[in-house]
Amino acid sequence: MIDRPTSANYQDRDSTSETAWPCVVCGRAVKLNHKTWWVHVHNGGGSIVTEAEAVELNAAGQEMGDMGGQVIGPECLRMYPEIKAYAWRDRVKKGTP
Ligand SMILES: [Zn+2]
Repeated sequence: MIDRPTSANYQDRDSTSETAWPCVVCGRAVKLNHKTWWVHVHNGGGSIVTEAEAVELNAAGQEMGDMGGQVIGPECLRMYPEIKAYAWRDRVKKGTP
């Protein structure tokens, strides 16, 4: 589990649509396709977790904080290489819509 970094302009993030979601770090729209990187966001948005950590947190009564799968843009993934271990590209993975 690691802290979720967010840029100062995240509050002005792009809107969510059927074809693009805002990056979890910078808020800029990321197109949804097979190349899209996903992370599991938990603790009400404060943390990026593994699937095992999400299961543990939810079992401990923290499921209200489970934000599920969220997208991260490739630039932000490069800027925060520690997130790479938590990211996946398979949209149908558990925890994603
Ligand atoms: Zn970003």
